[in-house]
Amino acid sequence: MTKKERPSPMIAFRKIFSQPRSVVSAIRLASVGVFCVTPFSFALTLSAQDVSNVGASSSLATAVAKEDPKSELASAQDVKVQAIYKAVGGPTSPKVPVYWNRYHDNEEIETILKQLETQFPRLVQIESVGKSTEGREMWIATITNREVGQEETKPGFWIDGGIHANEIQANEVALYTTWFLAEMHGENKFVQELLRDRVFYILPSMSPDSRHAHFYEPNSTNTPRTGQRDVDDDRDGKVNEDAFADLNGDGHITQMRIKDPNGRHKSHPKYANLMIPVEPGDRGEFTLLGIEGFDIDGDGRVNEDGDGSYDPNRDWPWKWEPGYVQRGAFRYPFSLIENRNMAEFVLKHPNIAGAQTYHNTGGMLLRGPGSKQDAYEASDLRVYDRIGKTGEKILPGYRYLNVANDLYEVWGGEIDWFHQMLGVFTFTNELFVSYNYFHQSSAGPEQSHEFDQLLLFGDGLVEWQEVEHPTYGKVEVGGFKKNWGRQPPGFMLQEECHRNMAFTLYHANQMPLLKVQSVSVKPIGNDLHEITAIVENQRWTPTHSAVDLKQKITPPVSVKLESSDFKVLTSQHSPDVLLRNSTVQEKDQANVQIPSVGGSSVVYVRWIVSGSGKGKVVVTSVKGGAAEAAVVLP
Ligand SMILES: [Zn+2]
Repeated sequence: MTKKERPSPMIAFRKIFSQPRSVVSAIRLASVGVFCVTPFSFALTLSAQDVSNVGASSSLATAVAKEDPKSELASAQDVKVQAIYKAVGGPTSPKVPVYWNRYHDNEEIETILKQLETQFPRLVQIESVGKSTEGREMWIATITNREVGQEETKPGFWIDGGIHANEIQANEVALYTTWFLAEMHGENKFVQELLRDRVFYILPSMSPDSRHAHFYEPNSTNTPRTGQRDVDDDRDGKVNEDAFADLNGDGHITQMRIKDPNGRHKSHPKYANLMIPVEPGDRGEFTLLGIEGFDIDGDGRVNEDGDGSYDPNRDWPWKWEPGYVQRGAFRYPFSLIENRNMAEFVLKHPNIAGAQTYHNTGGMLLRGPGSKQDAYEASDLRVYDRIGKTGEKILPGYRYLNVANDLYEVWGGEIDWFHQMLGVFTFTNELFVSYNYFHQSSAGPEQSHEFDQLLLFGDGLVEWQEVEHPTYGKVEVGGFKKNWGRQPPGFMLQEECHRNMAFTLYHANQMPLLKVQSVSVKPIGNDLHEITAIVENQRWTPTHSAVDLKQKITPPVSVKLESSDFKVLTSQHSPDVLLRNSTVQEKDQANVQIPSVGGSSVVYVRWIVSGSGKGKVVVTSVKGGAAEAAVVLP
């Protein structure tokens, strides 16, 4: 077909749009495949029957068409986007369009999750794990291919974000991951295999009340880190009676300064908004008066009793310490309803073998321990090191560190609860790093001002402006906005979401995955047979972390020979191909118990049986998955 013979693109779109959804899906997929034709001519030269055949020959196309045959979302725009060009590494034309260059409040997160559930009912299931302090539902998404295997027998991966609610991109990464897995399932083999073999539990908002507060109440980039339970911080019998005051009414809690020829600060020569200390002997221009606010309750102190003021990530039971030892700890372990809601869900899902909790800031891939009193076992460290080092490649500028020794000691942190009490390999990512500014590792206040000037065009700053202060008289307020400092600007947000998700999916893909590699049968005389199964862990994370084995957290791996035809007489297992130094099982010989299957290794399991007929080898591991294989004795 020559260019002249082709109808206009609009006619092409109408023609495509008039096809049933499954045909549209097939067209969409065919044009992302190996066909070297222009999308327009391809769509027009194939009949509906041809297109259906293309769909039938492509398992990916079938997968997409099956997702939601009744979807109303195959809009003209949907098709148009695909017909023009696909940017690799993301969904072609999402069923749930989301702008990833902006932040989403609680209601928007809920809407996106529910739309994903509607559009991908075979993959996404939404439920609330309970209500927050102020009565908000805490929505969690469970994502797996429900048509293959049982959810509870698949190794599970936990993701949460925003336990510190001011760290707002944390929730976005979790939400993006939910969206990406659902949207890419139809067109990416890696995601398909991941959702076939694993299940993801994703709780985007661990602290929804404070997310609401950060969005809609005056705050800084650093607040609120706390939850919203009432606390009498200054023990005067009143709660939250002296919070920040937004003196210029712009929604941003910034700094206050007053002109003072004897002050110890002056404006930076290049970045007028930046206050720098003066050298000894020099005279300054300003005295800094702290964070925007005044002494509301007249007790002589400013901003001393705002919302909450405890730390939800010092509330976890491993090595919990009271507030006078660990600042921010609340009353007792799990005294916060949001954490209890989450923990109840996690404890009902012992298949969780890997976990990720998102925070900001500073570009860190953190592992425990939180306390210097704890040391991780060497074999567990090997797993962490491998994931963490790969993470440093996936996330340029991020460093793989451990909390207690490289950062500061944390008592009662979530990461320790996961590792020490549940045996789960867990990372905390501290999102966003100043390396992102100019792809250089040096950092300082000048850099963020220069970045604001060159790339944000001043949008990150509140210019100093004069306001009337209730007690100080005329002062100036100004500084960074609440939405700049710890979180990426819009144009960097999607990249931050994607790279952090990629790190987490790398970790998730390395969770243990047990398969029956082979089953062999050998007659040994007297109507007896020797059956040998080779059980393989296809990933390099073991079925049991060292702490799990040591503390006996998770039951052993079970490799069971099931048959009503023949009788098991003896059994043994060994990691050695010749079954040297094997462990003989004394009782219940059919059901061989193996303490752990190491990463990227195999276990040989052997039974001596009498009789003949059919049976099967059934492998069950709480964190390593389920597998089976048939056995036939002649
Ligand atoms: Zn945090």
